[in-house]
Amino acid sequence: MFSKDEIIDILQDNKANSEIFELADKTRAKYSGNAVHLRALIEFSNNCKCFCKYCGLRCENKKLQRYRMQPDEIVSTAKTAVGAGYKTVVLQSGEDAFFTRDIMCKIIENIKKLGPAVTLSIGERSKDDYKAFKDAGADRYLLRIETTDKNLYKKMHPHMDFENRLKCLKNLKELGYETGTGCLVGLPGQTIESLAEDILFFKEIDADMVGIGPFIPHPDTPLGDFSHGNFHLALKVMALTRILLKNVNIPATTAMETLKPDGRLIALKSGANVVMPNVTSPLYIEKYEIYPGKAAPADDIIQTRTEIEQKISSIGRTISLGCGFRGEIS
Ligand code: SAH
Repeated sequence: MFSKDEIIDILQDNKANSEIFELADKTRAKYSGNAVHLRALIEFSNNCKCFCKYCGLRCENKKLQRYRMQPDEIVSTAKTAVGAGYKTVVLQSGEDAFFTRDIMCKIIENIKKLGPAVTLSIGERSKDDYKAFKDAGADRYLLRIETTDKNLYKKMHPHMDFENRLKCLKNLKELGYETGTGCLVGLPGQTIESLAEDILFFKEIDADMVGIGPFIPHPDTPLGDFSHGNFHLALKVMALTRILLKNVNIPATTAMETLKPDGRLIALKSGANVVMPNVTSPLYIEKYEIYPGKAAPADDIIQTRTEIEQKISSIGRTISLGCGFRGEIS
């Protein structure tokens, strides 16, 4: 379905937007069902060795107060989330060397004893690390390619290597992870053509999950004066991804909610089938400032879940009772 040129036309032209969003919604209903998978997101450290130009956690941002949850605290947060009904726990952080292979493995093992699926989102690591995490019980891994435009990638990540990021994604797939990737929409200098290539890339590597969000400028980064990505363009990249990749898991991202009230519900009606409520303690949540104005959850885990459940049922969708692996209809 859809060639690169057709994708470019659709992204450029807003006339067919509502048809595209409807087709994405139908594709989601057919291949992923009516239930929304909820993932409890724990943002456990904002320490980061990277220089990504757009991200507020970048190591050169000296204004950010850094925090690191201790392993016991991470496991106890996961326990509360499981108690609140979550079937998946997502562990996300900056690239923080404190969390060695052994420390991560212990955290994963302890969380797996509680029963949920475990998703990691902790950046680029060696294949041996990824293997150890998998052996410890990790089920899924999120690592956005961010952009497939190699020149833009170099500008945005001067310290990183596009080929290594690709290699990481291939390693994750080979090790049997459900592998998630995705992109930012609206990075300064990003072209529509490269967004079309991003979508085709998700298909080519057979991503199991794809997270797409608009770029939101952070004032304490080199991109602070640029404008944010376009909500509808990000939504269209997401919708086309659903239409092309059929049964993948697609989150309605927090960045969408941050740019537009009820942005997550709009995304759920345009191809998304996953929501990742933030269950991190309010002590830390505002310090995990990858971009400003992050849509804030309620103060406690149960309340956050109740609120999101109500919103989801208000659009006629149900909450999944399963772990929500790719293509699972529950
Ligand atoms: N360190 C991990 C997790 C990164 S944070 C990793 O490297 O994978 C998760 C995602 O936040 C990133 O992949 C990026 O796409 C997104 N992000 C970072 N800064 C952003 C910004 N300013 N606007 C929107 N999304 C941003």
